Amino acid sequence: MTPCPLALNARANTPMKWVRLVRCSSNPLWSRKPRKIAGYEAAGPDAAEPVEAGLQTADVVVIGAGQAGLSAAYHLQRRGFLPAGQTSGGEMAAEFPGSYVVLDAEAGPEGAWRHRWQSLRMATVNGISDLPGIPKPDIDPAEPSSGFLSRYFGDYEEGLGLNVVRPVKVHSVSREDNDPSGRLRIGTSAGKWSARAVINATGTWTRPFWPIYPGQSSFRGRQLHVADYVAAEEFRGQHVIVVGGGISAVGLLDEISQVTSTRWFTRREPVWRDAAFDQKAGHDAVALVDERVRLGLPPQSVVSVTGLISTPSLRAAAERGVLDRHPMFTGIEPTRVRLADGSFLAAGVILWATGFRAELEHLAPLHLRGPGGGIAMDGTQVAAEKRVHLIGYGPSSSTIGANRAGRSAVAGILKMLEHCSPDPGPDRSLDSGTPGRADPGIPFHGRFTG
Ligand SMILES: Cc1cc2nc3c(=O)[nH]c(=O)nc-3n(C[C@H](O)[C@H](O)[C@H](O)COP(=O)(O)OP(=O)(O)OC[C@H]3O[C@@H](n4cnc5c(N)ncnc54)[C@H](O)[C@@H]3O)c2cc1C
Repeated sequence: MTPCPLALNARANTPMKWVRLVRCSSNPLWSRKPRKIAGYEAAGPDAAEPVEAGLQTADVVVIGAGQAGLSAAYHLQRRGFLPAGQTSGGEMAAEFPGSYVVLDAEAGPEGAWRHRWQSLRMATVNGISDLPGIPKPDIDPAEPSSGFLSRYFGDYEEGLGLNVVRPVKVHSVSREDNDPSGRLRIGTSAGKWSARAVINATGTWTRPFWPIYPGQSSFRGRQLHVADYVAAEEFRGQHVIVVGGGISAVGLLDEISQVTSTRWFTRREPVWRDAAFDQKAGHDAVALVDERVRLGLPPQSVVSVTGLISTPSLRAAAERGVLDRHPMFTGIEPTRVRLADGSFLAAGVILWATGFRAELEHLAPLHLRGPGGGIAMDGTQVAAEKRVHLIGYGPSSSTIGANRAGRSAVAGILKMLEHCSPDPGPDRSLDSGTPGRADPGIPFHGRFTG
């Protein structure tokens, strides 16, 4: 991208201050004064197009406000994008790179952390990266992750003035016409949006994966997915079968086995990782997933590339015999499961810790999936649909990955829109910093309550 030769107030990315950018004469988007049309707030050539009643517009619509969506919003603001709805009218409308909105289905901040089980505490999560630019406040390791992250995410959104609109569920994303650089139409629970680009950051939590086993529907006990798990106490006195070979399965086996009897089933022998999961290991794991999604294959489970990482509490659980793994049962009957050797095991509960799939159903009208069953990606950009970025997907489905992907997606969109963007100065958004202190280069109007 060509940096603007002159940029006044280039670091002012708060929505309350108008950002004055110098026009890039070679860019057609800057070449025409926008006309102000009621209900249509895009600046640039499209602003003169006819407007559908009730249609809202933004240059970039971000779907989802978890870690990935907030990272995208942060980087959009940092690069001078303004909240949609605050950009219409007057001279200023011609002088910003674009507008954005974040649409999130939840009633409040925090993304999927909002729904994770009560016993998941800051001490028991694997390590949550800071949101870009603003480190987490001091952590009480005993605090439930949900309470802590709710405050952190909420203060972050508010302090930065990010344009998050909720609760808004996106039902569909489609092309408005056959022009590959035309607009996308976003159908939601609160009306329609028209956008030049979409950053999809919808995570996986809303798509729990349940495998199918013979007799499953005949089971008279309780079957639940990890997505519905609340606390071990509710299983006291019942025999609990845990299915799945990932981090959630072993963590919950440890927890539930403290109050009742359990048995662990997996399809494959779990692979425990002996070596430390250091930066190089993380890099190698991401590279493996990146290779798959570049080829258009669906991303696999996290554990398939990281292996199971032992912790002191898991070692203690292994010593108690809780982590003795059994090959997958072959069928389910009303009060028991049929084991691989033909014998039976009585069970009151089957807990499916069988992972999640990417929540992409609303993108179906775009027909992005290829013959490999996945979506061929070029970094965060969908290879066959340059207007759509997927973040928090595949190689970026971790909190640090989500941060990086938000930044890459925004850089890719600016490039696509061929905007002349000011250089916002060194990006310290991925550096670690002092807890609760914002990057001094970023306007932050909040206070942390951590
Ligand atoms: C149990 C568990 C523990 C984990 N622990 C860690 C950890 O310790 N460290 C780590 O780095 N990673 C961890 N991860 C992974 C990490 O949580 C995720 O990679 C990251 O938080 C996902 O962020 P996200 O923004 O992609 O998705 P989410 O946090 O899931 O946010 C997606 C948002 O999109 C919204 N949304 C979905 N569909 C729509 C729609 N159609 N319209 C509008 N909005 C929609 C959702 O409501 C949600 O608000 C863990 C995952 C799990 C399941």
